[in-house]
Amino acid sequence: MTEPLRILNIGGHPKDAILYAGGTIAKHAARGDQVCVLTPTTGLSHHLKAIDEYKDSGVSPDMNNLVEERHQELVNAARELGVTDVRFLGYNDEIMLPREDIINDIADVIGEIRPNIIITHWPHDTVPAHAVTTQMTLLAIDAASGIRPGKPYAPTGGDTGGEAAQVFYHVQPGRTNVLENLNIRIPNVIVDITDTLKKKAKAMNKFTSQHYGDESPLQRKLSEVMDSGSAAIHSRVAYAESFIAHNPEVYEYLPVSEYRRNLSKRSPEDIFKSITTMLLDEY
Ligand SMILES: [Zn+2]
Repeated sequence: MTEPLRILNIGGHPKDAILYAGGTIAKHAARGDQVCVLTPTTGLSHHLKAIDEYKDSGVSPDMNNLVEERHQELVNAARELGVTDVRFLGYNDEIMLPREDIINDIADVIGEIRPNIIITHWPHDTVPAHAVTTQMTLLAIDAASGIRPGKPYAPTGGDTGGEAAQVFYHVQPGRTNVLENLNIRIPNVIVDITDTLKKKAKAMNKFTSQHYGDESPLQRKLSEVMDSGSAAIHSRVAYAESFIAHNPEVYEYLPVSEYRRNLSKRSPEDIFKSITTMLLDEY
């Protein structure tokens, strides 16, 4: 068996790493790969439940409690996916700019974990905190690949991005607006998450501060529009998470997956069943 992968999944806000790649990391964790989830921010400025409560009562909430709540939500969500390594850097997301201290913190985690794969947002995501997180992640990969004075670990190596061999950007627009037209994202890697979709829904429902929850239809709605969206349906899978690889992959020969080769052998009924499957009816 090949050595387990080391995967670092970075989301700009606490729930993003799970919302956009939760089904995928659950599969890797179950396979025995090492998975770490990282968010640079507290996500506090978008604690939707607290905003609603403030509008109703006019009383300012205890900020420290809210930060701890958002941290715990992410820990609980990751646990549902079999992931226990959660790095909550705790920076303010109110006005998010690339900052040297945040880049350093991300580089520290890269230096410690030495991930083979990093997952993060599309660099032109129109949610500023998402795009800035990717910018800082790319800078941190670069920093971790060189010598950093005072750091206890060896550089991850060279101008090839070191051991962070591949970066996958998730492709869901943070917001749908006209700026998205400037940098359209078409996935070139699709991971079938049909078998981990329910785990992902359970994980997302830990984010009660964002109106998810066991009694909330929000994740059910999102999974049906995002995870079973055009990438999934056109590839004839029930649910998928979709990515764009940052680096061109290198093969000895032109690659084509077993899945795609076998597609034409499947019956129309079987394919129709796949694309119309709805697994979250009871949620
Ligand atoms: Zn976000």
